[in-house]
Amino acid sequence: MTWEEARDVAGPRSVAILPVGAIEAHGPHLPLETDVIIAEAMARAAATRLTARGVRAVVLPPLAYTAAPFARGFGGTLSLRPETVTATVLDIAATLAHQRFGVMAIANAHLDPAHLASLDAAVDAIRRDRVPAVAFPNLAAKPWALRLGEEFKSGACHAGRFETSIVLAERPELVREDSRAGLPSNPASLSRAIRDGKKTFEEAGGALAYFGFPAEASAEEGRATVEVLGAILDEAVQAELGAGTGQPK
Ligand SMILES: [Zn+2]
Repeated sequence: MTWEEARDVAGPRSVAILPVGAIEAHGPHLPLETDVIIAEAMARAAATRLTARGVRAVVLPPLAYTAAPFARGFGGTLSLRPETVTATVLDIAATLAHQRFGVMAIANAHLDPAHLASLDAAVDAIRRDRVPAVAFPNLAAKPWALRLGEEFKSGACHAGRFETSIVLAERPELVREDSRAGLPSNPASLSRAIRDGKKTFEEAGGALAYFGFPAEASAEEGRATVEVLGAILDEAVQAELGAGTGQPK
């Protein structure tokens, strides 16, 4: 968009969607920017739904660099300090409020606990300031996680069937198919490992930086999953706009 287009789309009921990803290892078969690709797909799907109902929505350039300490030991992972992420999101929210956007929606696809804590801290601070309203459905938590398939619910949700399917749908040329097709399943649960105090993918049982079932991924499933992600963000935004969808804030 040009600055004039951005000026004209702003307003108290306009929604600015911030895709939030990571630059981190995603197995031998997916690119480092996998979470950026997923976050942008989620943001676009949500924007399509909002626009169809007459809500003005724009997708911001993504926040690609975030805190990724679980993947620190792998080549290519670029991890920020969590407080840097919190400060960046806060600054973006403040300038969106200055531009008179009523709602900031966070399309987050990166689930490292340090990163989620950095977003929670930012969202808490934005809500204290009251503007803009902020929609942040944490996919790792209920009720949203329950809508994202068995693998996701099991916690084996990094570079497995769920994420690989989305990249196959969005950017198939970036998936190393030779590698993916032969990858053995890794049902180790990341969420359980996190609860047990593990701090890295290696400690959690992911020596190659993947979990779950990447060989079972498909573009068709990825397209369906993107629609679910878009619906989740749409519902979270509707709750902030006071449309009374019945979904929790
Ligand atoms: Zn990911």
